[in-house]
Amino acid sequence: MNLILMGLPGAGKGTQAERIIDAYGIPHISTGDMFRDAMKNETELGLLAKSYIDKGELVPDEVTNGIVKDRLSQDDTDKGFLLDGFPRTLAQAEELDKILEDLGKKVDNVLNIHVESEVLIDRLAGRFICKDCGATYHKLFNPPKVEGTCDRCGGHNFYQREDDKPETVKNRLSVNIKNSEPILAYYENQGVMHTVDGNRDIADVFTDIEKIIGKQN
Ligand SMILES: [Zn+2]
Repeated sequence: MNLILMGLPGAGKGTQAERIIDAYGIPHISTGDMFRDAMKNETELGLLAKSYIDKGELVPDEVTNGIVKDRLSQDDTDKGFLLDGFPRTLAQAEELDKILEDLGKKVDNVLNIHVESEVLIDRLAGRFICKDCGATYHKLFNPPKVEGTCDRCGGHNFYQREDDKPETVKNRLSVNIKNSEPILAYYENQGVMHTVDGNRDIADVFTDIEKIIGKQN
């Protein structure tokens, strides 16, 4: 059960990742964790990656791919894995196929949790802050009890951080969508691509995932 999990920020990827690894007993392999482990264990590639990061430079693809290969060679992936945050580019997707081939494995299914951009913008751009006391709110998830009035200090002045503004979030999503398109097309061509409607209850989304990858008994 070799899986790749894809989805835009705010689509609920993390929640589904947790469910999948719990139900199927496979390791969750995220890029961040992989790098942290390689650096902590001071592997050759981990130290190499660190030397780039310390200089504020991007880690070259060869190094990242090597770290992925090291990780996918470990015993806990024998029953499968859930890869998250990799591949990020088409070149990485092609390299991943080579890595897996070397290891006698292949990608079984790619799960793309899809939520419309407009919905994601509402989720991601909903945060605002009271100018007077700094209390934070969210338009959808944590609004003030009385609209326009701060629960804590009664103030009426709110602002949004640059990162939380709809325009910023929209741009961030556009970049993400543009980058993921060639990867999705690549897996579509391989016949392993599955799009799951992520704009529903967590349990319903997971039921769809189970239907795709086969229920664990
Ligand atoms: Zn306040």
